[in-house]
Amino acid sequence: MLVSIVVPCKDEEEALPLFIEELKKVTKELDGYTFEYIFVDDGSTDNTLKIIKNNHNFKYISFTRNFGKEAALYAGLERAKGDYVCVMDADMQDPPSLLIQMLEIIKERNIDCVAARRINRKGEGIIRSACAKLFYKLINSMSTYKIESGARDFRLMSRRMVNSVIEISEYNRFSKGIFSFVGYETYWLEYENVQRIKGKTKWNFLSLLRYGIDGIVGFTSSPLVIASYLGMLMFVLAFLGVIFVVVRKLIYGDPTTGWASLVCILLFTSGIQLLCIGIIGEYISKTYLETKRRPLYIVKEENGQEKGSS
Ligand code: UDP
Ligand code: MG
Repeated sequence: MLVSIVVPCKDEEEALPLFIEELKKVTKELDGYTFEYIFVDDGSTDNTLKIIKNNHNFKYISFTRNFGKEAALYAGLERAKGDYVCVMDADMQDPPSLLIQMLEIIKERNIDCVAARRINRKGEGIIRSACAKLFYKLINSMSTYKIESGARDFRLMSRRMVNSVIEISEYNRFSKGIFSFVGYETYWLEYENVQRIKGKTKWNFLSLLRYGIDGIVGFTSSPLVIASYLGMLMFVLAFLGVIFVVVRKLIYGDPTTGWASLVCILLFTSGIQLLCIGIIGEYISKTYLETKRRPLYIVKEENGQEKGSS
């Protein structure tokens, strides 16, 4: 039985040697399987590609620039030939040793996916943790596809599930949503959070915020509905306001007092308008990028061969 292991790497020269050593140790323990290793070098500027090339049994793809982890994952999945395919990070935050359990569970239960979920966020900043929790609450309250809190991209999938994932070739990729969208029975394997072994995370607050918005825009149109509700609410309030002013004029005769409150109301309503335009803009920009049908990634080199296009 062939098991493909897909690893996206961006500037991982520090963590990669330790990861490869651990991965080899784990796969050696697994009798009865053959392994196919697919490393995706996502435009690294350090020695990542060199380290990958030093292992002659590894397949690899190298991008012309950094296209992002989502594109790297997609490229790896497209090339994987295994009966089972596992995706894992190169920084040991997805412990390779869990693969043993994952393979046992997927066969025993005869299901299509075993995915890893962190039961805590030990070692992560308080603000980052809180924002992540808020994000999962938000997206799950709006989207019909459940996105597990603490879920990682780290998972073992059956051939048919991988085929379904590849079929979704959209430009704005949010893998956690895509895995949930394609369905299939998934077993959640829980584990304690592990910190990155070496090197630095590629995410900062802003890029995570962007990723979160991508996820929400990609998997639910509820913000648009909320925007229209807000519009309706403002309309009703404005209508009541008009009645109030007219009645006051009839009783007291002076409609011009209260300009300060008027300014506040104006600012408030224009703020809401801007917010709603922003929400609509997010969806339009996504549609725009999607209709261009640009390639998700461009390959520079693949398994020793130079390439020109994806
Ligand atoms: N990664 C990638 N392209 C990117 C950013 C990250 O291929 O543009 C890879 C990275 O090398 C690692 C995995 O994606 O193997 C997860 O990245 P990271 O550890 O920075 O994310 P975190 O674990 O902090 O969410
Ligand atoms: Mg990491």
